[in-house]
Amino acid sequence: GARCQEAGSPGPAPASPKPEPDFAWAEFWKFLRPQLLALSAAVVFALGVALLNIRIPMLLGELVNVVARCTQQRVGTYLREVRRPALRLLLLYSLQGLLTFSYIVMLARVGERVAGSMRKALFASLLRQDMAFFDANRTGQLVNRLTTDIQEFKSSFKLVISQGLRSVTQTVGCFASLYLLSPKLTGLLLVVMPSLVGAGALIGSVLRSLSRQAQEQVAKATGVADEALGNVRTVRAFAMEDTEVALYCHEVDQSSRLNEKLGRGIAVFQGLSNMVLNGIVLGTIFVGGSLMAGEELSPGDLMSFMVASQTVQRSMANISVLFGQVVRGLSAGARVFEFMTLEPTVSLSGGDQIPSHSLLGHICFRDVCFSYPTRPSCPVLRNFSLTLPPRKTVAIVGESGGGKSTVAALLERFYEPTGGAITLDGRELCTLDPSWLRGQVIGFISQEPALFGTTILENIRFGKPSASDAEVYAAAQLANADSFIHSFPQGYGTIVGERGVMLSGGQKQRVAIARALLKNPAVLILDEATSALDAESEQVVQGALERAMAGRTVLVIAHRLSTVQGADLIVVLARGCVAEVGTHAELLRRSGLYAELIRRQAMEQP
Ligand code: ADP
Repeated sequence: GARCQEAGSPGPAPASPKPEPDFAWAEFWKFLRPQLLALSAAVVFALGVALLNIRIPMLLGELVNVVARCTQQRVGTYLREVRRPALRLLLLYSLQGLLTFSYIVMLARVGERVAGSMRKALFASLLRQDMAFFDANRTGQLVNRLTTDIQEFKSSFKLVISQGLRSVTQTVGCFASLYLLSPKLTGLLLVVMPSLVGAGALIGSVLRSLSRQAQEQVAKATGVADEALGNVRTVRAFAMEDTEVALYCHEVDQSSRLNEKLGRGIAVFQGLSNMVLNGIVLGTIFVGGSLMAGEELSPGDLMSFMVASQTVQRSMANISVLFGQVVRGLSAGARVFEFMTLEPTVSLSGGDQIPSHSLLGHICFRDVCFSYPTRPSCPVLRNFSLTLPPRKTVAIVGESGGGKSTVAALLERFYEPTGGAITLDGRELCTLDPSWLRGQVIGFISQEPALFGTTILENIRFGKPSASDAEVYAAAQLANADSFIHSFPQGYGTIVGERGVMLSGGQKQRVAIARALLKNPAVLILDEATSALDAESEQVVQGALERAMAGRTVLVIAHRLSTVQGADLIVVLARGCVAEVGTHAELLRRSGLYAELIRRQAMEQP
């Protein structure tokens, strides 16, 4: 075991040079399609605003012409003449205001609904993944995909529709006006543009990969903080605050560096594009001047051309700002969809069920071989064979790291064996419905029971959501938990705090036992269930467990040999296979590994 741990350890943070996932357009379309109507409305309204923006300057020009004419001629018809264009402008302004309001409302609706359904789908997909997936991915990074990445993607999406659409429309519209003013000058612009766009795209792809690295690093830093805050008691108990802070600082520095690099990239991009666009203005004056000399262009036209090309310039600068956002949005979106489309090897449900009246709880491991997917080169179980007879208690003992918990994980189908087979009542586990198996057949009590930050009642009911209050109380009584729960002022309504911090170890354990008993499982797995407790609470918990074990097939995974002496069968696991099998007395007589373990533990005890 120890050798493998050293050789195969992936370390806390493997620098994953994973290939950048592509943006899954087809997936995105699935989320967008239900919102198509609202989206089209938003697009139409936004287009309307842009078109009005192209039209309004011309009307303003007309108005100015009228004003100029009237002031020159000093006639008294000013009010009458100015009324028509002024009213038209007023109307257009109001229309533009209304359209702006409408497209923002529509866009907010589309954005929130798409983001909401993406969040739901991603969360559902994450919870569906194999255990190996969670071995390989940090919680903080996963949470980041649900929050930051979706947020980023949503705002980019909204910006593209609102500003992007407007900028593009204004660019195109003003190009049209430009063409009407001077085809020659516009033609020249059109020759220069494509080469600039090409250069922009090139820089863009570089920025894209930079952005991905930066975001990944931010997620990594968050992961460190998340872990430290989540395990704050352990951190405090080991006085590791400074170390954790140093670790976090290192990751944050790294992410600052990457983000600064990205910032420099964007700065270069925008600086260059500003320079180029100003160059275009200068070029226009230069070429326009020569056209004027040839009387192909009037001074007024050149003036209008300049103004219109200014609008083009502003719009295009806007597009370049947007571009950075789009780059970030696309890579954020790609990260969201990456895990949404990932299919677990063991699906949550589907498969046969054994009717409860004929379920015996007879379990067989036959020549099971296994290594963890994250460490494929390190076999944990080798040709492991074991039979758990119905209603009997089988205990697995052995050195730590020998693979005892792994046996339980395989029985729960958290992982698939790489060889051999596991059967329940003669049926292969892989043909049975996993959610039925976990939800109704197997009760699992681990050494560190994880509770949720809600009431005791709801925590117990987690074992069987359909259970009535009376069933919950009965399970709590069976688990020796009823009396201590009643001693709380709020009784079953007591909130246990995040991860159950407000309960003592023994109390948590008994709530967990009640939770497991609620589903009345045919098979019970106890993973070192009493090892984390002091002697007194161990006795209370042990009493609860003994009652819980009656009439069930029980697999006990134990370090304390004292707790398993009464088991019907004791299995000694060494280096991934069964070294000895027998009752306590038989194994003692053999004076093999088990006897050795007993001797060693007796020596350790004070
Ligand atoms: P035990 O319960 O006997 O202490 P385990 O079944 O927990 O032993 O572990 C057996 C071996 O498998 C150990 O070498 C351990 O490092 C490795 N291991 C346990 N869990 C994982 C995991 N999720 N990913 C990779 N290796 C693991």
